[in-house]
Amino acid sequence: MRIDVLTLFPEMFESPLKESLLKKAIEKSVIDIRFTNIRDFSTNKHHKVDDCPYGGGKGLVMSPEPVILAFESLEKKPKSKTIFLSPGGKVLNQEKLKVLSQFDQLILLCGHYEGIDQRAIDMIVDEEISIGDYILTGGELPALVLIDGVSRYVEGVVGSMESVLEDSLSDGLLKYPQYTIPRNFRNIEVPEVLLSGHHKNIQEWRKEQSFKRTKINRPDLWRKYLKNKKEVK
Ligand code: SAM
Repeated sequence: MRIDVLTLFPEMFESPLKESLLKKAIEKSVIDIRFTNIRDFSTNKHHKVDDCPYGGGKGLVMSPEPVILAFESLEKKPKSKTIFLSPGGKVLNQEKLKVLSQFDQLILLCGHYEGIDQRAIDMIVDEEISIGDYILTGGELPALVLIDGVSRYVEGVVGSMESVLEDSLSDGLLKYPQYTIPRNFRNIEVPEVLLSGHHKNIQEWRKEQSFKRTKINRPDLWRKYLKNKKEVK
């Protein structure tokens, strides 16, 4: 999968992509992530990329021209989608990550300051995505969240696709608690059933725990799960 990031701050991506599974995926060319610095496309002699908002107000708005020129400089793949990371978009979830992983190319547009001139957004953006109901200083961290989440669905990034599909939220539920050695840690034992070797009982226990966690921690997800189950029947 190819991911192009349009940003004023490409350095913000360096460290997170140099660690762990994403680092390996990039080294193996399973994902190809490229950065385009919007500032390089400023035609202003001082490389200015923003200005005051029309109509007044505080802060600066990113000008449309460098954004559009940066976008136009990109090589486009056949199945490509341009996403603007924005608190005004639909909130990202696991289902959306799975859908996005089916594209050949994602172009991620990161805003900064007070955001981007609406005309640039209208010209190139297919979809606006928010990572939650809070405001960050820029779209760079949201883009990293999206890159990380989408990459897990790309074959060859995580060791086993089975484990990705078993993660919390993949089936609309939170995952059951997990344990590893030692059996007794500071007088707390691993639940007996997990040591039993009885596959069916273990599966049942895990399902129960998953239901319990979802009901308590995320009643919204639990209601959605019950509703979907009813519709399938
Ligand atoms: N003035 C804008 C508003 O009220 O909607 C907020 C601009 S924010 C300070 C700057 C940039 O950060 C946005 O253009 C967007 O790219 C990014 N951003 C901030 N919060 C975000 C969120 N929750 N999800 C995705 N992107 C976000």
